[in-house]
Amino acid sequence: MSLIENVTLSDFVDDFLGWSGKGDGLFSVKSCRMSFCSSSEATFEWNKWVWNGLAPPRVETFLWQLCHGKVAVREELKKRGIPVEDGLCPLCHLHEESVGHLFFSCVVVGELWTKFLRLWEISTALSQDPISILGSWSFLRKNSCIWKFIPRVVLWSIWKVRNLVVFENWKVDTSSLFFLTRFRLAKWFLAKYPLVRINSDILVGDPIIADKCQYSHVLEKTIYSNAITLATFSIPVGPGTPTLAELKAIKEGIVFFFSSKWANKGKLIIESDCKSAVDWTSNQNTTPVFFSSMVEEIGASISAKDIVLRWIPRSCNVEADKLAKEGIG
Ligand SMILES: [Zn+2]
Repeated sequence: MSLIENVTLSDFVDDFLGWSGKGDGLFSVKSCRMSFCSSSEATFEWNKWVWNGLAPPRVETFLWQLCHGKVAVREELKKRGIPVEDGLCPLCHLHEESVGHLFFSCVVVGELWTKFLRLWEISTALSQDPISILGSWSFLRKNSCIWKFIPRVVLWSIWKVRNLVVFENWKVDTSSLFFLTRFRLAKWFLAKYPLVRINSDILVGDPIIADKCQYSHVLEKTIYSNAITLATFSIPVGPGTPTLAELKAIKEGIVFFFSSKWANKGKLIIESDCKSAVDWTSNQNTTPVFFSSMVEEIGASISAKDIVLRWIPRSCNVEADKLAKEGIG
């Protein structure tokens, strides 16, 4: 009775089924997701370990389903009364296909997990529970951006290959599975960090290389003359924003040019696709405090050495990069 005492009836509105989550009684995917997150926060940080943007949205949805035992492995189908002719794992044909077996203890996928652990020289016994894996994985290897992608990409790759075996009669090949998983890992990582300048083929071949520039991209600027590469340099920029990385690149580029044999043979024209860096240098009053000392230093060099610094659209810089790379083979 106490629940309905506070309900006010209206003659102007028909009865209807209302969504009890956030919103005006109307269902939305966002409010549904928020409801799940808030109700489970006490035990598992869903926003941190599942809905964190490290995997495509449909993969995050899959991970959420996996954590809740809502993935249609044969054991789960049987529990729901769905007739299953063969309950064995389609990858090894040795054990019943449960979430714990298919994704963790199956000999086929165990090899996949082990290969990734070995790449980072980590030796550990894996849990058979997706929630434990997702929640504890980052602690196995700290300070590695690409490491965080691995459980997501491995779990998704296992599910994809399992379905290919079941529905397309694929034969499991552990080498191909490892390659496909590394390929997916490289694509997801580069999609998340577009400023990281690593060739995707190199990353597929050696994922650990991402750790060498995990916090920022490697600076790579080239000095041109009539589209011929005269000299190049490449240095790690350390932590910081893309704008800070660009300012460092400009500063180092100036030092590099004036220490080269080309310093006395022509004028230095620097082209940057970072509009902020160019604007701040020409109008230093607008520079944020954090960058002001570096911008002042660049501005002083530009005035003293008669350098031209100009902005070019990013698309032009892509062409220049391509040209430079062709030039240096
Ligand atoms: Zn198996």
